[in-house]
Amino acid sequence: MNSKKISLIFLICCISMILFPAGAAEDADYLITGHNTARNIVIRASSSYGVNNGVNRVMDFNRDTCWMSDGKAGPQWVTVDFGSKRLITSIVVHAGKKDNYPTLKYFKLQFLNKAWFDHTVVRIKRIGAFGYAKGGRMEVDLAGVDASTFRIFIPVDAMIDGFAAISEIEIYMGSSRLTFYDDRLKGICLPIRNGYLPRSDYSYPNAPRSYRGGRHSGIDIHNYHTENSYDPVSLTETTPVYAADKGIVIRADHDYVHIGIDEWKRRAVYYQTHPGTYMRNAFGGREVWIDHRNGIVTTYNHLSSIDPGIKQGRRISKGKRIGTAGNSGLAGEAEGKMYGIHLHFEIWIDGNYLGYGMSMQDVRKYYQWIFANAR
Ligand SMILES: [Zn+2]
Repeated sequence: MNSKKISLIFLICCISMILFPAGAAEDADYLITGHNTARNIVIRASSSYGVNNGVNRVMDFNRDTCWMSDGKAGPQWVTVDFGSKRLITSIVVHAGKKDNYPTLKYFKLQFLNKAWFDHTVVRIKRIGAFGYAKGGRMEVDLAGVDASTFRIFIPVDAMIDGFAAISEIEIYMGSSRLTFYDDRLKGICLPIRNGYLPRSDYSYPNAPRSYRGGRHSGIDIHNYHTENSYDPVSLTETTPVYAADKGIVIRADHDYVHIGIDEWKRRAVYYQTHPGTYMRNAFGGREVWIDHRNGIVTTYNHLSSIDPGIKQGRRISKGKRIGTAGNSGLAGEAEGKMYGIHLHFEIWIDGNYLGYGMSMQDVRKYYQWIFANAR
């Protein structure tokens, strides 16, 4: 390696130390929110005690859930990064519990100015063995701090039993609380009862789809579980599909025409080299679309049947049965076979599919977050 290369590497290291200062690279868990709001907000944690106690729990507007550290040695923190300076008037931190026991003696609110520095040390009073004073609600009045990022830092001696837990972080800008979440998404539930989010990247938005010359724009639901067991069960052509939220049916392909495998292959080859800029019937098969009248449209693809009452213009309620899962529009159906049955489900928000422009890792986290928060 010549010296030019070495000095270039040195320069890159220096730049990355400036861009990711003070251990930011060690953050183990993160969530990027605000994809459908004004600006992305990145929330990170030093560690997390499994998926049920991920860092997303501090901003889910649910005091019953909490972020918890993994219990390993060392200080812990949660960082909130707005990406640009915001005028913060106050921050409220709700201390969390582990197995009903308090976890925190104090925390430090830190801001970043080349390195993290302590702005306030907040002591948390306890009541007896099980309680926090004021339920653990600690308000820090900032009277207008102009910052792009802050951190709730929990030193080792601030933890009661080696774990740190926070149930909620509220951020106020003026009198309004910052929302991390597009409220319209709260109404959306999975259209398959007890459905599982997919495991494979291939089944998420942005996965490539060469046979239609483009990208996948929804999630593929292949499995669900029964009332008695969490074992995954495959969808079949009799599995009911339900409306994800109330709305108006804007498309219902009662007149769907089956195509044979030769025609299917011909189209698949054609679209590989001629990516469509306009396609109405491209491998989605028998489809239903529902307009939820708030900028959100959901679509249900590859159905084997559509219920007779599901017609264009019809108003339907959340959870209304719309048809059954299937493989229409896919090679399996074109061949007259039963393989490939699943529900391809899309959520369109303000004219873009949900997940557009996001990395695969972020897409997965976002979908998990949405359906964990679904009402
Ligand atoms: Zn799909």
